[in-house]
Amino acid sequence: MSDMAKADFLLMLGYADHHEELNRALAEARLTRLDKPRINMDKLERAEALLAGSFLRLCRRGDCRLAACALAGSRTLVGAASAEACGVCGGQALSGARGRMAEACARAGWQRLCIVGGSPNSRMEISRSMPGALEARLVDGTATRSLKEARDDLEWAQHVVIWAGTQLDHRVSTLYLGAASRSTLACRSVQKLFAHIAVAAERRVEQAGGGA
Ligand SMILES: [Zn+2]
Repeated sequence: MSDMAKADFLLMLGYADHHEELNRALAEARLTRLDKPRINMDKLERAEALLAGSFLRLCRRGDCRLAACALAGSRTLVGAASAEACGVCGGQALSGARGRMAEACARAGWQRLCIVGGSPNSRMEISRSMPGALEARLVDGTATRSLKEARDDLEWAQHVVIWAGTQLDHRVSTLYLGAASRSTLACRSVQKLFAHIAVAAERRVEQAGGGA
């Protein structure tokens, strides 16, 4: 397992600020030492669970700020690194989209998805939040992919999403244009990706005449 700078680690967990305080909480739980600048990636899950108990991440929406006062309890309010990382709206929206995707894919009979593109952070978020019944191959859109590897992906996956508008080279996306079942999404958020997959699966069920 690799390690990474603590600031990046905290950003990946969705924390935009209060890094000193967060670091102190991690140190108190013995997940790190205060003076260490880096942290091992295998602590991601434990750190996430620990910090969620003491901090609530918030986006900039006024509604979320208002709701947070009632929701936070004893938790400290901190800035969210992205809308999805917001403990009020993002969490709900993401888990709503995730549930809809899981249901739609089950009805379409999809268990294997291939997602081409996305940032390293978004791939991390997808691997953490993918429903258990679904497997996803996440193809790095900036790394070289051989024709054979792409063909394997196409044979394996029941649906391919070309995640345009993200870190995706044309020469990588081109390899996947021959997929039998394919859709293209042009926005960056993981929540929108999940919603997009749900729509694609729902459409598939309709085309198959109501599934069954
Ligand atoms: Zn929010």
